Amino acid sequence: MSDDKGDGGLTADVDSAVERARAAQAGWARLSFRERRRALRALAARTRGDEELARLISSETGKPLFEAIGFEIAYLCELTRFLSGSEGRRALVETRRASLIFPHKRARVTWHPRGVVAVIGPWNFPLLNNFGDAVAPLLAGNSVLLKPSPHTPRTSRRMQALWHETGLPDGVFQVVEGGAETGSALVDACDMVFFTGSLANGRQIAARAGARLIPYVAELGGKSAMIVLGDADLYAAARAAVWGAFAGAGQVCIRVERALVEAAVAGEFARLVADEAGKLRLGHGGDVDMGPLLLPEQIERCERLVADAVARGARVMVGGKRRSELPGLFFPPTVLDGVPHEADVARAETFGPVLPILHVADAEHAIRLTNASCLGLSGSVWSRDRGRALALARRLETGSVCINDVLVNYFFVSAPLGGIKSSGLGFRHGAEALQQFCTPRTIVEDRPMFGPIANWLRRQLGFPYRPRVLQVLRWLLRAIYR
Ligand code: NAD
Repeated sequence: MSDDKGDGGLTADVDSAVERARAAQAGWARLSFRERRRALRALAARTRGDEELARLISSETGKPLFEAIGFEIAYLCELTRFLSGSEGRRALVETRRASLIFPHKRARVTWHPRGVVAVIGPWNFPLLNNFGDAVAPLLAGNSVLLKPSPHTPRTSRRMQALWHETGLPDGVFQVVEGGAETGSALVDACDMVFFTGSLANGRQIAARAGARLIPYVAELGGKSAMIVLGDADLYAAARAAVWGAFAGAGQVCIRVERALVEAAVAGEFARLVADEAGKLRLGHGGDVDMGPLLLPEQIERCERLVADAVARGARVMVGGKRRSELPGLFFPPTVLDGVPHEADVARAETFGPVLPILHVADAEHAIRLTNASCLGLSGSVWSRDRGRALALARRLETGSVCINDVLVNYFFVSAPLGGIKSSGLGFRHGAEALQQFCTPRTIVEDRPMFGPIANWLRRQLGFPYRPRVLQVLRWLLRAIYR
């Protein structure tokens, strides 16, 4: 996407950071879950009241202060609360049911941290997709090296400062700044990689991690569809489309990338969306709804996609031209109606404030177009018939789906969230996310009450093999696995 400079031959810095992280990790892993929870909750509590952090998120991305606090800081607090709670603790020590063949035994699974985890983050959410993705690996007992995007390093620097101000141990969480070269050096030196960014870079990192056979989680791009059926509450759907497409100036991975609307209501829906989109207040910082784009190539991409769609017969309902009179890279909320599926904007990730509306014949048509994408991150289904909406949601090939809502799936930190197909590997969120940053080890032992029986069974099942025992086994196999 961008040339992503910012290295300057920093692999020596990476090596020494990895060394420090390794040295610190052992002590961090020895702490109990409760102690790590206390540490991370104390840090989250600091972020909650840190005006400088909120200001930095807003100023380095251009997003409104409301989104800096309401999306990013609130998310970090909720994520930390949930993952460090009882479900998170239970996820890391488990007792499994006995095997029917050895009913006198039980298995205990313990989850051991992988070591040093590299979290490589994008620029669009400098807290949520950067330090936010360090929370699970840290709670699981890993140390983390966070490499933010060179476009937005200041939020992560602030998190590093808050880590120290909270009195948390040196070396366990470190920020390593740089671009693609630094990211590659981290992939070559760490024990696991958690990457959020573009598909092209995600593929390159997958190859590199694969060569070292280290685990890799990738959260990549999306082309999330909003499917609006004829019986939907059109006004609610239109308002949600505007929020889902233009929050973060459209630079949100799970944003509404396309609306697929049943033809009978598509015209009315497009009018409502355009009306609402036209009301958004553009500007910087405080009392605004939408900020500028971050990179010149983003605005050029929006222009290119709009031009292509118009050439193919789409109609610009609102927006469509950059706002050069405003200070910064402003591209207004843009609504395109009657976009054909062949248009680039209907198929490739836009990652900017352009919403294409496609008219579809019926729900089946919408499902076909949605699933035709190689991306499968998120989506939504809009209908007053909840049963029908749920049945359609189940057929969408995406990591998550909202019914009659958009974006809020990101805040369901108790449930796994990730992309399928080319949108990613692995997931974030849910107590299961903690296990992802660990290797399981299984310990099998006798159940406490079964001591003498266990000894007797060991004698029966070991050498020398006896025909009588085999006979019993045959009988048991027939009885149990009918
Ligand atoms: P990007 O791929 O350009 O960069 C992401 C990070 O990777 C940056 O820190 C960058 O320096 C680093 N990097 C780049 N090349 C690398 C390499 N070869 N090896 C190691 N590190 C490398 O992505 P971006 O432009 O910052 O972010 C936008 C993209 O991220 C969009 O496609 C968006 O959909 C996606 N995204 C996805 C999610 C999600 O959860 N699925 C969330 C946010 C953003």
